[in-house]
Amino acid sequence: MRAEYGPGGPEAGAKTWHIVSGDTGRAMCGRELDPGAETREPGRWGEQPELSCHTCGALFLREAPYLPDEHRYQEQQE
Ligand SMILES: [Zn+2]
Repeated sequence: MRAEYGPGGPEAGAKTWHIVSGDTGRAMCGRELDPGAETREPGRWGEQPELSCHTCGALFLREAPYLPDEHRYQEQQE
């Protein structure tokens, strides 16, 4: 996961989270991201669904439909 920042820059926090493969700056949806932007473990995808890129999410989940860690995380929340 890599952050896309809005007009407020990094100080304002991530505007959208994208999935990037490897160390490239290109998200799965095709958007070029700042290589210095904050990154997170992909297991945290879904923590902030309102900030998650829908295109990246669809592509990411199709590629890795099973996220046992995330599933466990959601169960703990309920
Ligand atoms: Zn994206």
